[in-house]
Amino acid sequence: MPINISKNIKTFKSTIPEEVALVAVSKTKPNEDLMEAYQTGQRIFGENKIQEMTDKWEALPKDIEWHMIGHVQTNKVKYMAPYVSLVHAVDKMKLLKEINKRAKQNEREIRCLLQLKIAEEESKFGMSKEDLIALLQDERIPHFNHVKIVGLMGMATFTEDKDQIEREFAFLKKTFDELKTEHQNLKILSMGMSGDYKLGIKHGSNMIRIGSAIFGERN
Ligand SMILES: *Cc1c(COP(=O)(O)O)cnc(C)c1O
Repeated sequence: MPINISKNIKTFKSTIPEEVALVAVSKTKPNEDLMEAYQTGQRIFGENKIQEMTDKWEALPKDIEWHMIGHVQTNKVKYMAPYVSLVHAVDKMKLLKEINKRAKQNEREIRCLLQLKIAEEESKFGMSKEDLIALLQDERIPHFNHVKIVGLMGMATFTEDKDQIEREFAFLKKTFDELKTEHQNLKILSMGMSGDYKLGIKHGSNMIRIGSAIFGERN
C-alpha cells in the first residue's frame, strides 16, 4: 500500500491528546514528503543529522520549527544555531556550553532537553540520573543566557517487551516530576516513537517523535 503522509498526520492529530505535541521525524525523507506533511498543517519536524536538517531548512518554508532529535557533535552546533528550535538530546556540559556560545552569536535563545538514559542497551546515548541532576544544578548554568533547559527526553529499549518499555518510561516520568518541583522551566517530556508512543502518552509524555508511522519505513 502506498504511504499516505497526509492521512497519517491527520490520524495522529485526531487521536493523540491535545496537549501532546507531534514531532514529524523526517530524517532521510525527501523535501516533497515534508511538504506533504506541511500542507496538512504540520509545522514541527525532527531530524537527526545537522547537515541534512540545514539543507532542508534552507529549502523549505521558514515557519517550520526544526527539532534536532539525534546525538549532536559539538563541532556542528554552529550550523544549526541560526534556526534550530529545540535540541532534544543534550547529554553533556560541553555541548550545552557550545550551544550557548553559538546561540549568543546569533542573538538567540535555544531551547534544550536533557536526555536521560533509560534503555538497558549500551548503545543508547543519554545521562544517568545522577549526571543529569548534576548538570541541571551546575552553577555555570544560570550564566548561560542563551540556552534554556525546558525538559527531558528519553528513548526506551527497542524490544517487544511492553512491561520493560513501561518501566523505562515510568522512570523517566518520575524523574521529570521530581525535578520539575525545583526547576520550573521543565515543561516538555519528549517520550515515544512510532512503536511505543501509546505507552509514552500513557506514562505522561507531552511530545512524541514519529517517523515511520507518518512517512513509511526508512531504507
Ligand atoms: C528516528 C528517531 C525517531 C523516530 O523513529 P520511528 O520509529 O521511525 O518513529 C524518534 N526519536 C529519535 C531520537 C530518532 O532517532
